Amino acid sequence: MRTLVKETLTKIGQNVNLNGWVDSIRDHGKITFLDLRDRSGKIQCVGKDLPKVTAESVVEIVGTVAKRPEKLINPRLPTGTVEIQIEKMTVMSSSKELPFPIDTDGYNIDEDVRLKYRYLDIRRPRMAQNLRLRSKVTTFIRNYLTDRDFAEIETPMLTKTTPEGARDFLVPARLHPGKFYALPQSPQQYKQLLMVAGLERYFQIVRCFRDESQRADRAYGEFTQLDLEISFVTQNDILELIEDLFTKIVKEIFPEKHISQSPWPRIPHKEAIQKYGVDKPDLRKDKNDPNELAFGWTIDFPLFTGQTKEDFFYGSGKAKFAPSHHMFTAPHPDDIPLLDTDPTKVRGLQYDLILNGFEVGGGSIRIHQKNVQEKIFDLIGFTAEQKTQFEHMLTAFTYGVPPHGGIAPGIDRFMMAVRGEPTIREVMAFPANAHGSTAVVDAPSFANEKQLAELGISIRHRPKTKTG
Ligand code: ASP
Repeated sequence: MRTLVKETLTKIGQNVNLNGWVDSIRDHGKITFLDLRDRSGKIQCVGKDLPKVTAESVVEIVGTVAKRPEKLINPRLPTGTVEIQIEKMTVMSSSKELPFPIDTDGYNIDEDVRLKYRYLDIRRPRMAQNLRLRSKVTTFIRNYLTDRDFAEIETPMLTKTTPEGARDFLVPARLHPGKFYALPQSPQQYKQLLMVAGLERYFQIVRCFRDESQRADRAYGEFTQLDLEISFVTQNDILELIEDLFTKIVKEIFPEKHISQSPWPRIPHKEAIQKYGVDKPDLRKDKNDPNELAFGWTIDFPLFTGQTKEDFFYGSGKAKFAPSHHMFTAPHPDDIPLLDTDPTKVRGLQYDLILNGFEVGGGSIRIHQKNVQEKIFDLIGFTAEQKTQFEHMLTAFTYGVPPHGGIAPGIDRFMMAVRGEPTIREVMAFPANAHGSTAVVDAPSFANEKQLAELGISIRHRPKTKTG
């Protein structure tokens, strides 16, 4: 039976069978020392006349766990008080020399090379740790929310456009030549429909797709968010729930971190702009402290921004107003009369979650009255055709809609901020690069003629330099 490296500490004097990678080798003539690495740690192994092996090969080692003499203890290794006296070593799969070192933090290696060999890059302890902690965070979230009566519900990936203000990814529909699905920019409409359905408390840790350029806090193409929606809820309920959830995540999973201020400050949008010049101020007290987490809320956003955000989606391109969050956000009840007189003065019931100067999430209380929703469609300049795209929402809103609201904190962004990583890609297993090529597999690729024919598609321009 296999023993994990970390379990050797309790097996002194016993014969064990270890599996893992050769982390390093020190050949002293007849005697060879090597460090064996598995998912639980590293351990020194020592033996005579071992088969030839290269670093990063996968081996099986059978041997005895021995206590190291006092002066040979390695205090830098959790298993530094013991070593394995090798009786037999089998090379299960040998490794070529890696294209880059993995015992460094890796930041100064060309990122495209790291992404090409991402499966090696993830052997780097920092990367493996990021992914493991991320798994702990999502598990914690699932337990926390299901304990509080939330249901985790999946929504379609092949769907219709969702108005989050970015360009959609389209997927050709073979059964409907000439038609396309859109990958969801978020499950916004579905989660609202789940409220109409009476689920009351929904969440999903979900992939969202937006065809927009890469930035440090934004990967090209896809990202993951904790999407949630609640019925019969106030803005304050949502802010308190998220504050409690993230405070507990930090306490449990990142105990070395401290939160600058609790309860988290809630800053009206106007004040944020006046005082800090941005709507996501970095509220850390000491920006040199890598363990400080300054959470906060920006609230009271204007419902509309002055100009249309993305002409290719919102309105006819001639509209004066674009939603500053999205078109389902409820106006502040005190400001509803202003919708007719001065829409730019209307505040939205929307909020952004900020952390160390990043916008880590946003959400809102939603419109649940058909007539108000229609009014917003008019204000953002929807054409009759655009309105029909959202007909299903207006229809659903005629069947008893609970007041509802939600939020969607970004998992990648939170992990980036809490781990102090320079980009979001450092906390994703297989991100795309700046040109939209996916790590390792180098997607996208050309479709062949047969595939295109089935889809009824012909390509108008094909770059000459590449082959399909
Ligand atoms: N759908 C929004 C987003 O993805 C979040 C929300 O309003 O709940 O940003």
